[in-house]
Amino acid sequence: MKKEAVRARELEVKLRVDSFDEVVLGYNENETLKEAERCLQCKNPACIAGCPVGIDIKTFIYKVVKKDYEGAYFTIRETNDFPSICGRVCPAEYQCRKTCVLTKKGSPFSSPDAINIHFLERFVGDYGMTHNLEVPVKKDERLTKFKVAVVGSGPAGLASAGELARLGISVTVFEGLHKSGGVLRYGIPPFRMPRNILDFEIDYLKKKGVKIMPNYLIGAVRSLDELFKEGYSAIFLGMGAGIPAFLGIKGENYCNIYSANEFLTRVNLMSAYKFPEFHTPVNIGEHVIIIGGGNTAMDAARSALRLQKINKMKPDTTILYRRTEVEMPARRLEIEHAEEEGVNFKFLVKPEEFIGGDNGFVKKMRCLECKLGEPDNSGRRRPVEIPGSDFELTCDMAVIAVGLKANQLLLKVTPELKTDKYGDVTVNPDTMETSIAGVFAGGDIVGGEGTVIEAMGMAKKASKAILDYLLKQ
Ligand code: FAD
Ligand code: SF4
Repeated sequence: MKKEAVRARELEVKLRVDSFDEVVLGYNENETLKEAERCLQCKNPACIAGCPVGIDIKTFIYKVVKKDYEGAYFTIRETNDFPSICGRVCPAEYQCRKTCVLTKKGSPFSSPDAINIHFLERFVGDYGMTHNLEVPVKKDERLTKFKVAVVGSGPAGLASAGELARLGISVTVFEGLHKSGGVLRYGIPPFRMPRNILDFEIDYLKKKGVKIMPNYLIGAVRSLDELFKEGYSAIFLGMGAGIPAFLGIKGENYCNIYSANEFLTRVNLMSAYKFPEFHTPVNIGEHVIIIGGGNTAMDAARSALRLQKINKMKPDTTILYRRTEVEMPARRLEIEHAEEEGVNFKFLVKPEEFIGGDNGFVKKMRCLECKLGEPDNSGRRRPVEIPGSDFELTCDMAVIAVGLKANQLLLKVTPELKTDKYGDVTVNPDTMETSIAGVFAGGDIVGGEGTVIEAMGMAKKASKAILDYLLKQ
């Protein structure tokens, strides 16, 4: 008899919408075992190829079924340093679950029947955390004399630091912001990425000897040359993609129109949701419009709606997207949660102009209706405008979440560092080495906006190449 997939427990909607508490509560032990037992233990497990770091999914699930959670934890940690983080934020429906044999062939994302690999991974990762399981340090005496600098403390920087520190290399992470974690801290809200999980992983690295230097913008405080002169033998660049793209339409600079990055940074990093306990204001509107269809748009919308509720306003937050729900790049679960929480969706709509009042604040938007045309390079059907279909929407706050570009500061002051036409750092794809000898890169600064696990995968590849590079010094 076919066994139903086990749904993870979630915070009730009414308890979610006026707090930033974690929404997905995951599995308890019984639920974990029930879900793990559904795994078919395929002879050739296709799910592994769907994971950007190739976790041995079949083995870890087998160990879970045997209640060997410690063994499962160490199996995952062979390729993924942060299972509790990935188990929470990985878009598994486009990765391991999509290639699970239980997903229907040709489906744009995983079928509901596919094994909930991410929730099993989360359970095992949390087990490792609560039981203080530690991956042994394997000091390599040939490497302990070296110092490596890591620029940026997002998933790429942290993964690379962990990988190198484990071998006894002295690693310093330089972070431009006052807190580490990259997008995991300033972008993804606590209701998806609880800060105690992130803090635990960062403290773990610190205990392993990784030094983290906050408020240290490389390119302004130090150049790459200066880092080499200070004795760093290699440098890993994980600066990410934090520069927001804009729509380029009339009226985009009216007051109360935020980039998603600014809005989310205020809310998450600067804790505006705890105002006045934290002194970061955010001028939340009565009619909020979010433009975009990715995770950033979902996070912005769900945060805006919570802020409306916290401020005792009637929630009115709408996502505008040029295509339909099927083409939305956001995680399916985030779309589902946004809908449950009361976010409105308007599909096949393209913003044309923001209209402001005499006070300089946005008050309306003019939009055009669209229909779907032929698929574009991404394989998704392209939005085609319908002439004459203009209409207006009331809007006293807008958040633009239509993409992010590479952080430029360091690139501008380091012209020898080659970049491509998108402004991303160019690397040798086998070693992740940049155009400067001894400087490696990975994460969103290389591939553009990607996923947490993809960033970590690139960092791991770069770290292996850094070891080879150091051993040749
Ligand atoms: P980042 O996380 O951007 O970290 C880069 C760090 O470098 C930052 O802390 C930055 O301050 C620092 N920095 C930049 N320049 C310098 C400098 N010159 N000197 C020192 N420090 C510097 N992916 C998922 O898998 N699942 C999700 O659910 C998901 N949701 C997302 C939600 C949002 C709102 C956003 C924006 C992205 C989301 N992503 C998600 C994508 C994912 O977060 C990124 O792909 C990932 O964080 C990239 O990691 P990174 O280390 O390359 O860069
Ligand atoms: Fe799946 Fe992500 Fe875990 Fe890989 S890291 S197995 S893609 S949930």
